Amino acid sequence: MTTVAKIRVRLLAWYESHRRALPWRATDGRRPDPYAVWLSEIMLQQTTVPHATPYFLTFTRRWPTVEDLAAAQDGEVMAAWAGLGYYARARNLLACARAIAADHAGVFPDDEEALRRLPGIGAYTAAAVAAIAFGRAANVVDGNVERVISRLLAVETPLPAAKPELSRLAGALVRDDRAGDWAQALMDLGATVCRPTNPLCDRCPVSVHCAALGMGTPAAFPRRTARADRPHRYGAAFRLVRAGDVGLVRRPARGLLGGMLGLPTTDWRAAPWTSNEALTVAPRLVTNGVWRSVGSVEHVFTHFSLTLGVYESGHAAHDPALVWTAAAQAASQTPSLFRKALGVEMSPISATALHAPPGK
Ligand code: SF4
Repeated sequence: MTTVAKIRVRLLAWYESHRRALPWRATDGRRPDPYAVWLSEIMLQQTTVPHATPYFLTFTRRWPTVEDLAAAQDGEVMAAWAGLGYYARARNLLACARAIAADHAGVFPDDEEALRRLPGIGAYTAAAVAAIAFGRAANVVDGNVERVISRLLAVETPLPAAKPELSRLAGALVRDDRAGDWAQALMDLGATVCRPTNPLCDRCPVSVHCAALGMGTPAAFPRRTARADRPHRYGAAFRLVRAGDVGLVRRPARGLLGGMLGLPTTDWRAAPWTSNEALTVAPRLVTNGVWRSVGSVEHVFTHFSLTLGVYESGHAAHDPALVWTAAAQAASQTPSLFRKALGVEMSPISATALHAPPGK
């Protein structure tokens, strides 16, 4: 038996007894629903299984089929997505569901090429859906798989430059036989055993083949190019409250957090905002009101981190763009950044910092 064959036999046998029980996986030996596979893969991009699972359950309860999702209102879907991040993905999710309903009679295409022509489906998602939902011999390479392959073969090229090499090496292990199980077995090994730090090599079914373990430094792989520091930005958010409601605005469709509801804010820039500056530049939200500084929140996006000062006012609003939302529900309809800003308590110290309304 070749080494590749031995690795496959060992890993697939391990998967039989150690596979994760996930709500989008079929439990009765049948292939899973392509809608469930696709939805889970979109949600799992850049987030964890524990974080994505409640969203998956909510979506499939409210919209059990891709056609149900296609018929949903944009605002409903965006609100249900709030907190998952990467909001362009939610817009593409809807566009994809509608394309499948309109152009494919509600049936997912079963090969990578056709899947890739759908909105929001890139190479990885097309491969994952083709392999897991349709048993195609697709090469499914996510961060977990890159890590496992880089360790198994002690790949010295650092990420991200190593991506094509890792993909080619992963592809050499793919066969027609049990293609969906193979993709998920590699993912599960990476998620539960070959973890980013402290890999559990003594529980690994392919440890006898692992070059990185043989070198004694499994966690030193994958090699990485030193990452440039993430830039920091500053902004201010305006929390306008009225009889238990809070005033939100719908953000422009394009751009960061596009299409989501959130608090009105200033621009986010490299230099800190002083309070007076922020309130002068802020949208003219209230008439003859005062704003209190109630604190600030920190948030990390992929490409920058942000300090967002939070100001509150209870004065009469005149901006027709405000969407008045019950304060108890506002957090569940907004991205995490605004959840944090909505949750900032008024402190006795910050409450003393009173400011004139913008432009006054
Ligand atoms: Fe990963 Fe350790 Fe298994 Fe190598 S032996 S693949 S480092 S868990």
